[in-house]
Amino acid sequence: MSEPEHLDTVRKFVAQEVLGRETHLDSLADAPLALYERFAETGLMNWWVPEEHGGLGLGLEDSVRIVSELAYGDAGVAFTLFLPILTTSMVSWYGSAELKEKLLDPLVAHRGFCATLGSEHEAGSELAKISTVVRRDGEGLVLDGTKAFSTSTDFAQFLVVIARSAENPTRYLAVAVERDAPGLRIDKRWDVIGLRASATYQVSFSDCHVPAGNALDGHGLRLLEIGLNASRILIAATALGVARRIRDLCMEYAKTKSLKGAPLVNDAVFAGRLGQFEMQIEVMANQCLAAARTYDATAARPDAARTLLRQGAQKSALTAKMFCGQTAWQIASTASEMFGGIGYTHDVPIGKLLRDVRHASIIEGGDDVLRDLVFHRFVVPTAKRT
Ligand SMILES: Cc1cc2nc3c(=O)[nH]c(=O)nc-3n(C[C@H](O)[C@H](O)[C@H](O)COP(=O)(O)OP(=O)(O)OC[C@H]3O[C@@H](n4cnc5c(N)ncnc54)[C@H](O)[C@@H]3O)c2cc1C
Repeated sequence: MSEPEHLDTVRKFVAQEVLGRETHLDSLADAPLALYERFAETGLMNWWVPEEHGGLGLGLEDSVRIVSELAYGDAGVAFTLFLPILTTSMVSWYGSAELKEKLLDPLVAHRGFCATLGSEHEAGSELAKISTVVRRDGEGLVLDGTKAFSTSTDFAQFLVVIARSAENPTRYLAVAVERDAPGLRIDKRWDVIGLRASATYQVSFSDCHVPAGNALDGHGLRLLEIGLNASRILIAATALGVARRIRDLCMEYAKTKSLKGAPLVNDAVFAGRLGQFEMQIEVMANQCLAAARTYDATAARPDAARTLLRQGAQKSALTAKMFCGQTAWQIASTASEMFGGIGYTHDVPIGKLLRDVRHASIIEGGDDVLRDLVFHRFVVPTAKRT
């Protein structure tokens, strides 16, 4: 499919299946799996998986555009559909040829989901303090522990779990676990305030055996950091999609709302606000696309896996997520005032958009955590050069 063709497909999916149904999606008790099945029917499920595994092999620049369109409809739908990129990128770069064939080919063939399990209650963002352990047992590996948050795990085909080695507590592994592995238990589904079309669980492992070949090659925390480069850029693209939607909602509202005898759309204060939104949306889009191009350039290198291990977190991915999360939150906040009292009700979707966009500054590293990372990785080294 050429780029305009698949973007057109996504826009049609959003127009037919999502727009106008967001309130319903927001109120569901269970994840809307039938909706995801209809997305799979477009042929775009897991659109980034390399062609050698049967996928479309689309790059991150394409992904930014796709995710912005999906999030224009619903951020939870976008989040659910792109988040497997975090898992598959770790597997495609650091899994053995057999593991990739075992996991990625069926994922594409069955148009399924996969999940990543890093976060734990006690450790918080200090991931080096995780207590999920993995030990050797003959030819296999055994996992024990509890993971606080993991999106889509209940209906995923496989997961990648970040665990500490029982034999050497300074060593961390990223281990693939098939969903039906004995000893894997879904403890509960979280009742989240936004992204309600997604499903996030607490998950436990108790004497959960997997083959030794399921371990990815490399330091587990480092591999997670590399996987997060793509998904952080796509969280930024989700914030972009929500911001675009808010702008359009404000324009619709301003045509119908009258102020001083004229439609609100003619008011100078309104015009100033919307002009500001447009400037912010333009910069968000440019930052997402610039970060995606940097990512695609690295991913295209024959030594991408090694280069990424050396580089770790991509600076423009961190700044895109922080900038877009903060900016979309400002836009949502300003817009919610613009709707007056009705904006504080469920009769208009601004409250949902505000709740949805909050995630961008929290998930995959809150802004305090990312600021700290940017400081230590990218500010301190520059200062040392002088
Ligand atoms: C809907 C949803 C889906 C999720 N999906 C997944 C998933 O699929 N897989 C997964 O592994 N996780 C997932 N998560 C977890 C998510 O990524 C974390 O919740 C997020 O990164 C924040 O980490 P934390 O909860 O450990 O809080 P913390 O980062 O520990 O934050 C708690 C407080 O400590 C402060 N703090 C922490 N570190 C620093 C620092 N270095 N400097 C200053 N202040 C700091 C924070 O600012 C905050 O005030 C999900 C979470 C949600 C809500």
